[in-house]
Amino acid sequence: MSRIVFWIALLVLVFFALRSKLRAALRKQQMHTPPQPPHAAPPAAIEDMTSCAQCGLHFPASEALHADGRDYCSPAHLPANTRL
Ligand SMILES: [Zn+2]
Repeated sequence: MSRIVFWIALLVLVFFALRSKLRAALRKQQMHTPPQPPHAAPPAAIEDMTSCAQCGLHFPASEALHADGRDYCSPAHLPANTRL
């Protein structure tokens, strides 16, 4: 009976030893190849922002509608005399 207990204990020890070795190897591998943080990509071109003269919404200047020297976010916010 003591032989069976000895072998079971040995198997359990081997199992835990292998598991800890495997975990250490995985941890080491993760340290060598850290995951790329989301901000690592080169930043896109910074775009100028503007605000709508009607509602004050801030949006990219490239999407602005211009009328009377002012920027508007949508055709609905253009002054009545300049609507498309
Ligand atoms: Zn607007």
